[in-house]
Amino acid sequence: MKSIPDEGREGEGKGASDTGDMAPSGSRSTEAEGMEKEEDRESLMMELTRLVQKVVKQSSWWERKGIDYAILASAFLSLPAAFLLLGSSSGLLFALGVLVMGTAHAIITFKGTHLATHGLLNESQAWAEFWAVFFIEVCGAFTARAGVHSHIKLHHAHTNILGLGDSSTWRIPFLPRAVYLFLAPLTVPILTPLVALGMLKDYSLVHAMRTVLMVSLGLYSQYWLLVNISGFESPASALLCMLLCRALYSMPYIHVNIFQHIGLAMFSPTRRPKRIHQMTHGVLNLPRNPVLDWTFGHSLINCHVEHHLFPFLSDHMCLKVKPIVSRYLREKKLPYQEEAYLSRLRLFFHKYQELMVLAPSITELVGVQ
Ligand SMILES: [Zn+2]
Repeated sequence: MKSIPDEGREGEGKGASDTGDMAPSGSRSTEAEGMEKEEDRESLMMELTRLVQKVVKQSSWWERKGIDYAILASAFLSLPAAFLLLGSSSGLLFALGVLVMGTAHAIITFKGTHLATHGLLNESQAWAEFWAVFFIEVCGAFTARAGVHSHIKLHHAHTNILGLGDSSTWRIPFLPRAVYLFLAPLTVPILTPLVALGMLKDYSLVHAMRTVLMVSLGLYSQYWLLVNISGFESPASALLCMLLCRALYSMPYIHVNIFQHIGLAMFSPTRRPKRIHQMTHGVLNLPRNPVLDWTFGHSLINCHVEHHLFPFLSDHMCLKVKPIVSRYLREKKLPYQEEAYLSRLRLFFHKYQELMVLAPSITELVGVQ
């Protein structure tokens, strides 16, 4: 079992440390007050960590790892049935095949990739790298290096810090809101490998070749199985089916990524708040949803706050500590932000210009520090 460090592991805690530079300057008494407040803040995160650590220690392997492994395994085990259903001449069975294949692909590439990115699928470093390459490159058609860097070193380490982890990479300001929110997501399966290809110029030849090989292996093996198991006769129809299955959950994928951070507090890189304030003000949970909980994992849906505070917890453990974390934050008068999916969608549709086109304003949590 991995322990839960107060500030997360390398990259996840760096830059988001509890040693922000917001301490007030001035008279000696003000300094003393500042130090007292700082001690309070330190103890908040430490106290919450202790509560969470206690739950983790009392949890079985099945709760800490097994449940998430089982969900991932079920996605892989459903693939043979999906390929057979996709070969059916019945429209209904074919549609069921698309649903099964699309859902399995989403579980593997959203939930699996996210857990692998955090190194949560194995204790050893070598295996963690293996799973990152398998899930991100073979299954997700992206580069493991860029995926881990942008998620761990930027998104987690600098959550909602302007210019670093402010989710601005998700903005495409020239697209009209309806196109961005409802049509553009369908191109994600095509754009993902193309963006990865564009990144290879900065990689060593060996590294670039490995990525090309792994991404090609993932794409070609699905294509080969569609032709040889499902019986697709033309390359175009097999490719179209791949696109359909891979794009099935693209829309919520884009939505989830923008709903949980954009529009919330954003901070200046030079005046960043304490970690507990950064995460409670800058992260939002969506409510529980059986489909999204399975495909994305609790860390990305209804326990995103818990995940940002404790990025070493698996999806199921985030769910288990959620009542403790939410109660603690509310008791301490800290925000615990939750909002319904459709409510966020409505907000982003109506305030698209403000949220997704114009630069976000900086929030400085002076006073609540
Ligand atoms: Zn994460």
